[in-house]
Amino acid sequence: MNEHDPAAAGPGPADDCPACARLRRAGPGDPFWLADLRAGVAVLHKHQRYPGWCTLWLRRHAEHTADLDRATQAALWEDVADLAAAMRAALGPVRINYENLGNVVPHVHWHLIPRRAEDPDPRATVWVRPSAETECGCDEALRDDLVARLRARLRG
Ligand SMILES: [Zn+2]
Repeated sequence: MNEHDPAAAGPGPADDCPACARLRRAGPGDPFWLADLRAGVAVLHKHQRYPGWCTLWLRRHAEHTADLDRATQAALWEDVADLAAAMRAALGPVRINYENLGNVVPHVHWHLIPRRAEDPDPRATVWVRPSAETECGCDEALRDDLVARLRARLRG
């Protein structure tokens, strides 16, 4: 076991964690999967009201970023930076919102949300919008297009 491999350290999947359940499905056969990175797994978010919204999940179960060892924190941040660079190159948003919350799903993860001038409330966080608007699912053709463009940038 490589002690510097963030995936090799710490507790395994928590049986009752929806993120760990999601991660068990993530991989090349998953139409939302983007890439396995250093410490995290990047996927397209299941709701695409903000096209290109991505989620980066820590590969192993942990609930507090501050409790991760510094090497894992740094590796996860490099993953955030790489995913953001791919989003900027592939999608050209005006801004990217970076959100590390954990209020609903405690498993450590980041939301990277592309923001555009035509957003319904472009100066506010997306979380202030009604769930009826944001929890819209994802059109398959849009999903496949976004995933192909983001995977291509993440491979480079
Ligand atoms: Zn988990």
